[in-house]
Amino acid sequence: MKPRDLSDHVAYEAGRGIEEVARELGRDPSEFVKLASNENPHGPSPAAAVAIREAASSASSYPKAAHADLTAALADRWGVDEEQIWLANGGDGAIDYLSRATLEPGETALVPTPGFAYYGMSSRFHHGGVREYALEREDDFAQTAETVRSAYDGDRLVYLTSPHNPTGSTIPLEEIAALADATDDETLLVVDEAYGEFADRDSAVSLLEGRNGFDSRDDVAVLRTFSKAYGLAGVRLGYAVAPEEWADAYARVNTPFAASELACRAGLAAIEDDEHVERTVETVRESRASMCEEIDAHVWDSEGNFVLVDVGDATAVAEEMQERGVIVRDCTSFGLPGCVRITCGTEAETERAVETINDVLADRDEPAAVDADESADTEVPDT
Ligand SMILES: *Cc1c(COP(=O)(O)O)cnc(C)c1O
Repeated sequence: MKPRDLSDHVAYEAGRGIEEVARELGRDPSEFVKLASNENPHGPSPAAAVAIREAASSASSYPKAAHADLTAALADRWGVDEEQIWLANGGDGAIDYLSRATLEPGETALVPTPGFAYYGMSSRFHHGGVREYALEREDDFAQTAETVRSAYDGDRLVYLTSPHNPTGSTIPLEEIAALADATDDETLLVVDEAYGEFADRDSAVSLLEGRNGFDSRDDVAVLRTFSKAYGLAGVRLGYAVAPEEWADAYARVNTPFAASELACRAGLAAIEDDEHVERTVETVRESRASMCEEIDAHVWDSEGNFVLVDVGDATAVAEEMQERGVIVRDCTSFGLPGCVRITCGTEAETERAVETINDVLADRDEPAAVDADESADTEVPDT
């Protein structure tokens, strides 16, 4: 017996972890910094960490009240109805719920390339197809209604990532509204705001709710997560904000108890902890600015908690940086074999990343200038 034909499916390639890399290289984990998965350099909100510890004793019960409380708190925060908040096991889980609620077999999702792999994976899991629209490097990966519309062909789902992973570009709400107007009534635009807290922009929730001069609409959903700005990637908590008109579909498609007791309690504490988010966003702004300024290669403007750097040979540079203790994301799997993505770290981590990438790039540029002694040095692993 075999699973169904999964030949179109590809496994998700996550950023590499410190333990994994240290073990592979036979080195001590403390030698490494990981700037490969856009995690929060300040860790979780301290209030969330306390909430998780306190929730431990109620882990034997199904999370009913906690789920309801978090849904209510998020509905309140966004000014939407409770049915519009679709809690899930990470933003990825919310993508699955949107796929389940929309796709008939054979319908398609239109996804960005380069882009986040899970959009296409989820569509395929739900017996849908995947089509792509290109964000062009020569346009600095600019996102407009026209970029997407020119590839659109009646797709049921259209994914927009703003800020976009891995490039950091954004799409203005006016362009999203224009795109929604240009697509069929039965096309849902999913605006993935996993990095929304790091951008100086209004959320696309304004479009659903008809705020800030927009007409309200039923063909846009917004995705948010606790994994990035809130520092809770490990608890797996995210949600979609769905249009009011069909929000009751959640009850029909969600996994019973879609988010765990610990996750819901952590989320409730985290959304009250503005100080932690503000500190995180401030750190990201500073890190982004210094990487843009100080890296000796092209760095694209980014509104996320990471920057994309043009290094020529991403695999070689990422490997060499890792050898020197800084783990970054090789963007080959995103379709950008010339680029690495570096997560914004603390001031010290950022400094180390800048120094390391500049050293690696300089060494690669001038192999002839490296004398025999130096090249021998770099081959001896640090101990
Ligand atoms: C991180 C991320 C998500 C959500 O991740 P979860 O950890 O599942 O919440 C969604 N979209 C993009 C583009 C991301 O980078």
